[in-house]
Order: sequence, then structure tokens, then C-alpha cells
Amino acid sequence: MLEEKLRSGKVETFIPYGKHSVSEEDIFAVDEVLRSDWLTQGPCVERFEKALAAYCSTRYAAALCNATAALHTVCRALGLGAGDVMWTSPNTFVASANCGLYCGADVDFVDIDPQTYNMSVRALRRKLERAADACRVPKVVIPVHFAGHSCEMEEIAALAQQYGFYVVEDASHAVGAHYQGAPVGGCRHSDATVFSFHPVKIITTGEGGAVLTNRPDLHEKIVTLRSHGITRAETEMVGPSHGPWYYQQIDLGYNYRMSDIHAALGISQLGRLDAFVARRRFLADRYSAALADLPLQLPPREDDIASAWHLYVVRLQRGGAESRSRVFADLRERGVGVHVHYIPVHTQPYYQGLGFRKGDFPEAERYYAEALTLPLYPAMTERQQDFVVDALHEVLS
Ligand SMILES: *Cc1c(COP(=O)(O)O)cnc(C)c1O
Repeated sequence: MLEEKLRSGKVETFIPYGKHSVSEEDIFAVDEVLRSDWLTQGPCVERFEKALAAYCSTRYAAALCNATAALHTVCRALGLGAGDVMWTSPNTFVASANCGLYCGADVDFVDIDPQTYNMSVRALRRKLERAADACRVPKVVIPVHFAGHSCEMEEIAALAQQYGFYVVEDASHAVGAHYQGAPVGGCRHSDATVFSFHPVKIITTGEGGAVLTNRPDLHEKIVTLRSHGITRAETEMVGPSHGPWYYQQIDLGYNYRMSDIHAALGISQLGRLDAFVARRRFLADRYSAALADLPLQLPPREDDIASAWHLYVVRLQRGGAESRSRVFADLRERGVGVHVHYIPVHTQPYYQGLGFRKGDFPEAERYYAEALTLPLYPAMTERQQDFVVDALHEVLS
């Protein structure tokens, strides 16, 4: 249908919900690596890690091949295993939950706050009280900074202290975001933070992810696990080294390394991170002003939180799922690439097979029925945005 319209010239273009921005400098940076002697994990990965850690004021950063691998590795490094429990938000990409299952742990969810769409601190507190009674307190909790808007980390960290669990921030949407005036990724209220550099996210390495932490023990374990569980440091070896060629496998790790080709793109993109986020914020503010008169719940605004604006999500205030499906189809027909984030993870067939049921996390399910992601990316023009705004006014009138 749309393809036909595009061909016949009825709609000019298709405006996607997200799009990466790759510059000539980015291409030059990758080109340089391709002409060098080093393609796999090498000097560029190290430089990218140092730059990330410096940007976030964190002691350590480890780059990995994607955020899914990063989540898996940090869970392993924290000792998550069979018999343990991991909790995350149902309003996320499946990877935030799957990492717990990879480790053999039991995964459960904490329902969301209907205003921020992040894990609700109230729901977390209530669930912890019940879990403590049943002696099933989670070992790891993974709050997700949905759309780039930080969770209430200070409150979550206080609960972590009280109940004794680890906190891993899934900040796949939130590189460049701030919480209480400090960059997300600084780990002031968590054990570790994970970023994703998939092309649809804020900055990209093609495929890529990272784990930031202030804990040296955790960083060392992550670095070992991302490369087969192999160490070349004699201090970590069992017995003496045999010589300069020697290494030992001291754990069961993976090949989750990032290549220098990817890292070179990351270094170059990181230099434009603030500009990307500023442009996203400008467009988000513009949306919020232009959509204020429509029957929509607009994205949350909180004084101590500066979103990275990975997504601009509106929630339809009338009509629920049927209305959302109609609005979605009408906008797509007009060439507006709206999307929906996220299908609650516990409603996925695989998770239903684990015993979860519809109705288990009603706030996430209600939100899902009404949510609509509007196009937003740094290269989006104001003219394109006006086109989206006009289309929404028409469709909702
Ligand atoms: C994209 C995403 C991931 C996975 O990132 P990859 O780098 O593609 O593995 C994990 N969690 C969330 C919330 C994401 O949006």
C-alpha cells in the first residue's frame, strides 16, 4: 500500500522512527583502521573504552560486541546462576530479561510507573517485601532507562542496600543522558551500567555494547569473560607462567570482543554524542509544544533527569488498543514511520511458556495498548517533524 503510494508520488518520503547519523569523519576513521595492521580488539578498543569512562566519570569501561553480550557478561561476573533470581522491567527489549535466563537464573519482572514507563520504585518495594518473606530476594535487579529517561536510581540503590542485591542499569537508550546532574553510566547508584551502540540507539559502532563500573573486581571478570575466560596476567594464574606465549583459561567465557573497526566508529561518534542529544532534545521539546493540545500523554519531564531522548513516545488517552492500531495504520499510510515500544516481555510466547500470564503486570500491558513511538533522530528536519505533527492532528481529529 505505502510502497504504491511512494511510487505514485502520493507521499513524498517515508520518515523512519529512528536513523543513525554517519559522517565523512566516521567513514575516514573506519577506513584508517582497515588500512592498519590491527583489525580485531586492539588500540582503538582501548581508546574507545578510555573515552567512554572519561565521558561518564567512571573508573572502568569494557567494550563488547553488543549490549546483549554485555548484559550476559555482567550477570555472569556478578555470579548470577542457577537457583538465583533476577528482576527487570517488562517494558523493555527482550535482551534485558534473557541475560538472566542465559545464566540459568529465574527471571521475574517489576511493573512500571504509568507516568515514566520505567520500573516503579513503589512496585519494587512491595515486591521486595513479599520476596523477603519468601526468602526469594533477587541477586540482581536490572532497571531499564526507558526511552533515555533515567530510573530513580537513588531510591533503587537504597533498596539494594536494604535488601542486598546488585544493580545493573540497562542504559541501552541512555548514553548521553543525565541523572541528578551527572552522566548516566557513572554508576554512583549501581554496580554496573550497560550501553548499546546498535545503529538505532544514540551513538553507534555498527554492533556494539559496553559495561561501565567503578568496581575493579567486576571489571577484571568482565574482561576475562568476554575473551573465553582466558587471562595473560600472571597474578591471576594458577601457578607460574611458562613464558611470554603463555595464557590460562580460568573461567568459562565467550568470544564477546569488539573489533577495532567498530571501536574506531565509536570513538568518532562519541565526539558528536552531546550534539546528537542536544538535537534530539530540541526536537523533543518541539514535539511537546506542538502536541500539547491533542489527547495524548506526553513523555515525562523531571527536574533532576535529562533524557537522551532515544525515543519520543506518546500515549493515546482515548480508545485503547483499537484506537492505537487505527492511528498507527493511518500514520504509516501517510509515510510516518511510527513504531511501538515495547511489547511487555512477559507476554512473549517464550515467557508464557515459563509460566507468565497476561495480567501479571497490568501497568505495562495498559501502557503497551496505548503507546506510539514518533519519529525522532538527529538528522530529522523541522519540516519533516511538522509533517509528522500535522499528520497526527489530522488522524486524531
Ligand atoms: C537495544 C537494546 C538492548 C540490546 O542491545 P544490542 O546492542 O542490540 O544487543 C538491550 N536492552 C535494551 C533496553 C535495548 O533497547
